[in-house]
This record gives sequence, C-alpha cells and structure tokens, in this order.
Amino acid sequence: MTRQTSGNGQIYQSVVDTVGNTPVIRINRLGPKNVNLFVKFEAFNPAGSVKDRLAMNIIEAAEASGALKPGQTVVEATSGNTGIGLAMVCAAKGYPLVITMAESFSIERRRLMRFLGAKVVLTPKEQKGTGMYNKAKELAEANGWFLASQFETSANADIHENTTGREIMADFAGTKLDYFVTGYGTGGTVSGVARVLRRESPGTKIILTEPANAALVQSGTAQERTENGGPAGTHPAFEPHPIQGWTPDFIPLVLQEALDNGYYHDLIPVPGPEGIAASKDLAQKEGIFTGISGGSTFAVALKVAADAPEGANILCMLPDTGERYLSTPLFDGIDADMDEEELALMRATPGYHLG
Ligand code: PMP
Repeated sequence: MTRQTSGNGQIYQSVVDTVGNTPVIRINRLGPKNVNLFVKFEAFNPAGSVKDRLAMNIIEAAEASGALKPGQTVVEATSGNTGIGLAMVCAAKGYPLVITMAESFSIERRRLMRFLGAKVVLTPKEQKGTGMYNKAKELAEANGWFLASQFETSANADIHENTTGREIMADFAGTKLDYFVTGYGTGGTVSGVARVLRRESPGTKIILTEPANAALVQSGTAQERTENGGPAGTHPAFEPHPIQGWTPDFIPLVLQEALDNGYYHDLIPVPGPEGIAASKDLAQKEGIFTGISGGSTFAVALKVAADAPEGANILCMLPDTGERYLSTPLFDGIDADMDEEELALMRATPGYHLG
C-alpha cells in the first residue's frame, strides 16, 4: 500500500518554532542482532544540527532577561554548528551576528554562516579554541555586543533538559532505555539530558565519549579557569583531532556539571578514523547521513552493544548532517570522477560514453 502522511496539524509561526522533536530511529543492519540500537538524529533540526536548540535558547533566554536588546549585535566563538544555528535564529529574529572561528574548520561552515547573513572573523589555527574564544570576548567588550557564551551559559544545558531529555523520555515511554551514548563539545547535551535521566530513568547508563588523542576528561587533569568559568588556557591533554564539534582545547564549564556530579557511568574514548568509518557505514548501510561526531558516537555505541546484555536498548546521539563535511577527511576517497567499476559500467553498453 502507498504510504500516506498527514501533516503537522499546525502552521509554524517561525522557523525557530520547528527546532527540536527530532526522531529516534532504529538501526536495522549494523551492530549485533541481540540488542536494539537507536539513534536520535539531530540533522532534522531546521539548520541541521543539535546546536539549533542551544542557539534558540541563548537568544530567547537573553531576550527574556533583557541582556539582549532589540537589534543588538550577537557575537560568539564557534567551530560551526552553533554559528549556523545562531545565524538561523538571528536571521529569523532580526539580530546582526558576528562569529569568530579558527581557520582550521571546514570551509562550508564559514560559507553557510555567511549565506545565513552572519559575519565570520577567522582566527589563527595555532591559537586553537582559546584564540577564537578570546577574540569573541574582545569584540563584545569593544563594541557592547551580546556574547552568547555557549561554553558557560546555563541556557545551554537547560534547553537539553527541557527539550532533548524530555523528548527521549517521551519516545522511550514503555521501552526501557539501558544506555545513552554521547560525546561532548560544550557538554550541554550530556549535562542537560543527564539531569532528566538521573531523575526519571536512573537505570539508564550514560556513556560519555571523547577523541582518543584528546582525552581531556580521561586525563583526570582539572581545567584552569578564569573568574567567569571560561578557560584560563589550553588543557595539557589536548591535541588537534578530526572530530569537529567535539572537545575544544579546554574542559567547558557546561561539561563540568556532568563531571562534578558523576553523571556518566563510563567514558570510552574513540579514535577519529573509527568515527569516520562508522559515519560511512551509517550512510551506506542505514541511509543515515551524519557527520564525524555522529559516526564517532555510533562507533562507541557499537562497543557498548558488543558488551551489553541480551535485548538491551541503546540510544546514540547523532549531532548533525554529513553534508557539512564535504571538504573534510569524511569525504576522502569519495571522488567526483568515475572509478574503475563506474567506467566499466559506462563501457558495458554502446551509447552515451564520455570522451
Ligand atoms: N557534534 C557536533 C558536530 C557539534 O557541533 C557539537 C556541538 N559543538 C557536538 C557534537 C556536541 O554537543 P554539545 O555542545 O551539546 O556537547
């Protein structure tokens, strides 16, 4: 029978109202057969990532408190998804936006933000996350702009408590959730979702992951902070890693809540190449097109699945869409030209050959 759809039963008043309520989807072909693997696919957000949630709440919390005035410029340091989310929200609500970003992040992220009307100021890659962070602060202070402060603001974990966590509880009503697997960038996802799971689903084990070559949490070394909770410098365990959006060169204050309260049951670092391979597998064997952090989280979910008891239900966060990574190692080996097999197919019938 032909499938039918029935609409959302409402007309959305703004694109911002479409943030959240992303689907949880069963994985059917990857992983062991004796457990149930699910992904929460954040690419369904209007600007394509989990950070749309945070962007919406940073702006709306600041509107409510009066910290952000009508027409005031918003400024933020971001490796991409927060900038794209903020650009979407600021465009919809009429705020100018300036993003600071290390030059090492993917070209398409810069162009996406500029397409959405933001200004993007690049900072030297040698100065890493701290460089772009300090530049945003400097610009905010010099111009009287509103600094979004994704790494410190309570608006970050709060929105994951009120939306992501609530959605998971609703979608798993009647299904026991045994494991929740996530990485961290700011830590907003893990801190906010963990508040809900600890309170309402204490049997769910929270598995945190980070890049194997930048295992800041696993190192056990505390982050030095300034008076507002921001980083006082680069964490000694940091090394550049390919998992964009994960683990900046410091332990964010928003993540510190999860560490201080023991919100996670296990920490399983993952090498970037494993994450890239898992992202390709998700695309090619499940039709689920997510970025490097989604693949990395899924690679860890597969490790959890291998040791999980019979019938366990495992939920894995997929933070964004893979379309954001065309110029990155995720697409290495994915050529624009025909490979041998494709050339052979072309030659196999008489017509329509390329010269
Ligand atoms: N993956 C990607 C691609 C991201 O952009 C982010 C956010 N920086 C995350 C994962 C982690 O999310 P959070 O900031 O909530 O820890």
